[in-house]
Amino acid sequence: MEYDVIIGLEVHAQLLTETKIFCSCSTIFGDKPNTNTCPVCIGMPGVLPVLNKKVVDFGIKLGLATNCHISKTNIFARKNYFYPDLPKGYQITQYENPLCEHGFLDINVDNTVKRIGITRIHMEEDAGKLIHDLKSHRSLIDFNRAGVPLLEIVSEPDIRSTAEAYSYLMELRQLLVYLEICDGNMEQGSFRCDANVSVRPKGSVSFGIRTELKNMNSFRHVQRALDYEINRHIGIIESGGNVLPETMLWDAVSNTTQPMRTKEESHDYRYFPEPDLIPVVVDDAWIEEIEKRLPELPRDKRARFVNVYGLPEYDAEVLTQSRSVADYFEQCVSLLNSPKEISNWIMTEVLRVLKEGSEDIKTLKVTPEMLVSMIRLINDGTISGKIAKDIFEEMATTGRSPELIVKEKGLVQITDEDILKDIVREIIENNPKEVDVYKKGKVQLLGFFVGQVMNATKGKANPRLTNKIIREMLKQ
Ligand code: ADP
Ligand code: MG
Ligand code: ZN
Repeated sequence: MEYDVIIGLEVHAQLLTETKIFCSCSTIFGDKPNTNTCPVCIGMPGVLPVLNKKVVDFGIKLGLATNCHISKTNIFARKNYFYPDLPKGYQITQYENPLCEHGFLDINVDNTVKRIGITRIHMEEDAGKLIHDLKSHRSLIDFNRAGVPLLEIVSEPDIRSTAEAYSYLMELRQLLVYLEICDGNMEQGSFRCDANVSVRPKGSVSFGIRTELKNMNSFRHVQRALDYEINRHIGIIESGGNVLPETMLWDAVSNTTQPMRTKEESHDYRYFPEPDLIPVVVDDAWIEEIEKRLPELPRDKRARFVNVYGLPEYDAEVLTQSRSVADYFEQCVSLLNSPKEISNWIMTEVLRVLKEGSEDIKTLKVTPEMLVSMIRLINDGTISGKIAKDIFEEMATTGRSPELIVKEKGLVQITDEDILKDIVREIIENNPKEVDVYKKGKVQLLGFFVGQVMNATKGKANPRLTNKIIREMLKQ
């Protein structure tokens, strides 16, 4: 039997505010445990929360970027449960009236666009972090994370495969980073994902029983966990059993999912309106203000790079992966109207150097001016493309201009026919066997002679001219 896969994702995005959602403690990651805490975020009796307005700003930003309806009246709610990382015994979140509803995010799958519904986006506070010390059999709690603001983004069950889930997460993460509201770091937990998954026989209209997967802290884990869970569901159904509505933990060591608890229902949490916070009223002026400052979104940028610069889709996708790389590209193009050539250099050399040095393009020693000057030197015949790669490397380590490097190292291309002819003549004399084979018709050997010339000139010979001369002289 064939099955449909149904997936809905819940993403928790930690917001890049300087302070927590209901107090003025810092949100910085990696500080000494329990140093960024105060009576509010460790839940002392009698304290009162005060909402950080930035959190609402960020929520509206994401809501607009995902085509949501922004709720005018927002109330916070208490979600009650007992766990040591939750000092108040409840989490302040939103239940009814979430900030954003009924949106969507378009994703690309197999070269077609698919629209994934966004059910809701709401604001809430993060819990503390438990650290289980297996040696001493003790658990430690770091409350630095307690009260750090989150947006929870819940998708409709519109996702139909692991590949679509992956694509959705990539798209959403890129959007959050573009909007500068989340750093998108999955390993550090600032972008977390729970996956709900069920299967049903193909053709059936109702959904099967779902399980919820937790504890996946990389894109690879999400993919593996989903694939594992989908197979597990099918296995149970094929052997005549029933999938239980459970919350499952992904175990990255055994590459399996393990049941953690039976799935909780919302009435288990005794939600009720938070009496310590007044409703947040979002008026049109507030929304307009945010809309005005919305940056160009990844999809729009991608489309513009194709339409305005005539780049292939692939280039546009790579170049817009981050806003700063896209800006770098556009600075180059404003200096030299040769988008594809510039794109080639960025996609290969620039991105490679960035990756190797885990550097930011803003601190890259090769400025757009330098890259463009180098491309000009290639185009006016001063240097060969091969030499340009060496020059690029040198620019990236020393930050010196391409003109200076060319002058100092004597890298100017050899375009003098007489000089090149002398070199070719010598190579022909020294390689009678190859010449013979070439003349008998193995013209692929041309590359061998070109290589010899390049060796002799340390790559400085003009390739086109070299090719021409070799052909001519071999004919004689
Ligand atoms: P919960 O509080 O149990 O996590 P939510 O309604 O907040 O429930 O989120 C449920 C998530 O599960 C949503 O992303 C939704 O799209 C998804 N979902 C709902 N039903 C199914 C199903 N049968 N199979 C897969 N995913 C589902
Ligand atoms: Mg859930
Ligand atoms: Zn605090």
